[in-house]
Amino acid sequence: MLVSEAFPELSEELRELLRDKGETELAEQISVLKLVDRCRCGDDFCATMYTQAQPVACYGPDHRAMDLDADKGMIILDVVKDKIVCIEILHRGEIRMKLLAMLP
Ligand SMILES: [Zn+2]
Repeated sequence: MLVSEAFPELSEELRELLRDKGETELAEQISVLKLVDRCRCGDDFCATMYTQAQPVACYGPDHRAMDLDADKGMIILDVVKDKIVCIEILHRGEIRMKLLAMLP
């Protein structure tokens, strides 16, 4: 399942936020990101999605986290070696409800 199919509005929002930051290469990845799993931390405000298989320990030195300065809630992209591996989404109830329904 692709993130852009499951969450078309979110994908458009991500693309715009990335373009605003001048991250055009990352913006181009949005349309092909796979929805691999959701975060299972259990926090009731968390709607984080993994777009690559989770690393065993940590992401390592090539990892960067980028706050996209979303208008609603908080969105942070985790990027490893220029690939988006995780979309951290916090305080976005409508996305969380849909995500939980898709990936119980
Ligand atoms: Zn979480």
